[in-house]
Amino acid sequence: MQKCEICGGREFRQEEVDDVFRVGSRYVLVEHIPATVCVQCGERSFDAATAESLRKRLNEGEQRSARKVELEVFAY
Ligand SMILES: [Zn+2]
Repeated sequence: MQKCEICGGREFRQEEVDDVFRVGSRYVLVEHIPATVCVQCGERSFDAATAESLRKRLNEGEQRSARKVELEVFAY
């Protein structure tokens, strides 16, 4: 049985999420990534195949981008 690494929760739902990844000096927003999301705290995890596919896509560079969006950056 899967357990959340953050809160120890055991309930998850499958969701498509958007996430921002840093590639060198660029940030890339990836939409509609299939993820397992903790119902309790919202922690997302990607399975190994998804993580590998993400890594490949990110390394292919910006010519594959669907579009560009502006991103506001805040330091915490
Ligand atoms: Zn959790």
